[in-house]
Amino acid sequence: MKDLVFDLIEQEKIRQSEGLELIPSENYVSKAVLEAAGSILTNKYSEGYPSFEGVPGWSEEKIAEEILPNFRYYGGQINVDRIERLAIDRACRLFKADHANVQPHSGANANEAVYFAWLNPGDKVLAMNLGHGGHLTHGSPVTRSAKIYEFIPYGTNLATGDIDYNEMEKLALDHDIKLLLVGYSAFMKVPDFKRVAEIRDKAEQKWGHEILLMADMAHVAGLIAAGIHDNPLDFGFNVMTTTTHKTLRGPRGGLILSKGRVGSPLKKLEEKNLENIPTMIDKAVFPGTQGGPLEHIIAAKAVAFGEALKPEFKTYAKNIVKNAKTLAEELKKRGFKLIGDGTENHLILADMMKSFNINGKTYEKALDAVGLTLNANALPGDTGGAFKPNGVRLGTPAITTRGLGEKEMIEIAKWMAEVAKICQKADENGDENPEKTYAEDFASLRDEVKNLTKNFPVPGI
Ligand SMILES: *Cc1c(COP(=O)(O)O)cnc(C)c1O
Repeated sequence: MKDLVFDLIEQEKIRQSEGLELIPSENYVSKAVLEAAGSILTNKYSEGYPSFEGVPGWSEEKIAEEILPNFRYYGGQINVDRIERLAIDRACRLFKADHANVQPHSGANANEAVYFAWLNPGDKVLAMNLGHGGHLTHGSPVTRSAKIYEFIPYGTNLATGDIDYNEMEKLALDHDIKLLLVGYSAFMKVPDFKRVAEIRDKAEQKWGHEILLMADMAHVAGLIAAGIHDNPLDFGFNVMTTTTHKTLRGPRGGLILSKGRVGSPLKKLEEKNLENIPTMIDKAVFPGTQGGPLEHIIAAKAVAFGEALKPEFKTYAKNIVKNAKTLAEELKKRGFKLIGDGTENHLILADMMKSFNINGKTYEKALDAVGLTLNANALPGDTGGAFKPNGVRLGTPAITTRGLGEKEMIEIAKWMAEVAKICQKADENGDENPEKTYAEDFASLRDEVKNLTKNFPVPGI
């Protein structure tokens, strides 16, 4: 008999097909990415790294044919080495990096590895405040890294939604920092990377030592790969980490890109400095913080990077931003107050309390009932706390993959406004269960959403 798990996978296929995914950190991978991720490569152990000797400038065909001397601890690496080499090579081309480590199991692991590579316990890191859009791994007290290193948060400007660069500069000159981090999960602008690099230079002068300049582009990596968003590595950043499953549209996983001299991960390092950061990162991923790499996922990353190198991906990325801007405008027309008054990327943050006097969690639950999935999210200076925040976060990467365009963005904004108004009415009557009280309205909206999804199949289903 087939395992029960497969019934549940079938159920999930239906859920994914019949609803619209507005969570900005999710996407749908291609059939080719799914196939690689579900392949027999999961059987192989390959602690260590493929060789890089002789590779720069090689064609993909040559990489796929040559047997390279490797730095592995087990035998039988002939195919795995070539696959991982292709993933590294494609990642470097996508992001104009000198080196790529494709082994981190997730975005969080990628960040941990960079911290471990460069910092000593007690070192200070300047990173974006979690409540203003930063990520848990950027110093939230519930994480391991916050116990080891000292994180100093900078904020965003409430009025403009942009990073408060003046505050960043002041903090960088007040605290003897070793790492300056730009990265976020809820931020709608393109950061001024040049300005950040200048702040790093000033802080280096003041403190008399090197400071690692790191970008965590987990959310916008796909837009960067497509060349429609600034690339921090073009502005003097040493390291860029990312997930591979958000706008980049690959399997779940992490990736670390760096600039500097690429050396052998087996040799003892001559010196710990920014020039040697690629090798320090390799050592920090394995054996520093991880064991055997997931070669089936690395293969799927390689396939996704290959897709991202194609011209169609550029069109896809442009459409993500076009859809996000349209959706933002349509929401504003219907009374939604947006942080930063709109978006420059794939992501929208709406203040539900200011707009409709309801909290983000109530609205998230109500939208779920009509087949629209997004997440409640804290806003800068939110008073609702992590479990009852006043905002919601949504985005367009997944629905753009399904082929939805401007016409459908208008539909979505209409549905979102109708649900918000029902929730507002319920709230005014002290009713905490609008989905029950207004069951008929919800059912008819649910049908409308389901009808629309029929014209936009999910890739791979
Ligand atoms: C999503 C995200 C991560 C974490 O990725 P996981 O794969 O979930 O560990 C890290 N940093 C930022 C900015 C993110 O948005």
